[in-house]
Amino acid sequence: MRILVTGGAGFIGSHLCRRLTNENHDVICLDNFFTGRKANIVDLLDYKNFELIRHDVTQPVLLEVDQIYNLACPASPVHYQYNPVKTVKTNVMGAINMLGLAKRVKARILQASTSEVYGDPKIHPQTEGYWGHVNPIGIRSCYDEGKRVAETLFFDYLRQNKVDVRVVRIFNTYGPYMLPDDGRVVSNFIVQALKGKPLTVYGKGQQTRSFCYVDDLVEGLVRMMNTAGFHGPVNLGNPDEFTIMELAKLVLERVATQSKISYKPMPADDPRQRKPDISLASKKLKWKPAVNLREGLQRTIDYFEKIV
Ligand code: NAD
Ligand code: UDP
Repeated sequence: MRILVTGGAGFIGSHLCRRLTNENHDVICLDNFFTGRKANIVDLLDYKNFELIRHDVTQPVLLEVDQIYNLACPASPVHYQYNPVKTVKTNVMGAINMLGLAKRVKARILQASTSEVYGDPKIHPQTEGYWGHVNPIGIRSCYDEGKRVAETLFFDYLRQNKVDVRVVRIFNTYGPYMLPDDGRVVSNFIVQALKGKPLTVYGKGQQTRSFCYVDDLVEGLVRMMNTAGFHGPVNLGNPDEFTIMELAKLVLERVATQSKISYKPMPADDPRQRKPDISLASKKLKWKPAVNLREGLQRTIDYFEKIV
């Protein structure tokens, strides 16, 4: 199959491109290199069935493909808040351009949505039926509301134009090929520990997240793309929930370091808890994560030890 991966040089995108290329699909990786790096996919450049295009999804693109994974969008709060207007454009115009392409060439298209559509959730764990509790005018809104409009567009293109859409809501995912300066918590803590710097815990570290190892997530994305007649939205994530303080301790136990904890102010609108209900993914995709946090952290530490 000919498969387009937007945001393919980013963290999750690079893993997905590697998997699809190794499965002998013709893979087109499209990226504007905002948070992606050529280094993330450099090993694929010599493959005949892999192609790299520098392009911004806010602009239309003409390609012939069978499937589109729309991952283009910075995912770290630090990076998506750097240019919030651009983040909205990437989410909304990117979705319109990629849905337009899917419509024209009759491709199936998957949207990388996010647990952020639930905002600071009032129900726990989060199920797909929950509509969320999102601040429309805060510093996270460019991302949260951008992703929510993208979901709206996906379902409108399904209803109005019969585009074969898939929507997955990804919960915090981590692993090798995150940027050392990505700004998200797992890479921050590991890099800080490896450098002997204090681990920056925001607030008291009592907020929770549920961390999914990237290989598990990619398996879920591929299953969702290739499951007929199911459009989602579907949660993909690891339901094992940890406080940020527990995560800091797990990292400190695994890295030989003198690092201590340093407390920083809690960012605005930071969700207090997050944990996916994955019953739907389990039923429809026969999917559940296989790598627990301790194992995944060790693999991620092994990666960062080589590059920082
Ligand atoms: P990432 O920042 O590492 O990758 C995003 C990629 O998109 C980068 O390569 C970046 O250069 C590219 N990009 C950004 N804006 C673009 C534009 N306008 N045109 C073309 N390319 C552009 O993030 P990631 O963690 O790999 O996330 C991938 C997708 O999954 C994102 O859409 C993100 O919102 C979603 N997601 C990720 C997580 C997670 O925990 N990693 C959670 C929820 C949702
Ligand atoms: N966080 C932290 N220290 C850091 C980075 C993040 O304590 O150096 C916290 C952040 O406040 C949030 C959680 O870790 O509660 C996850 O943050 P991240 O940016 O990884 O993703 P989010 O789920 O907030 O989008």
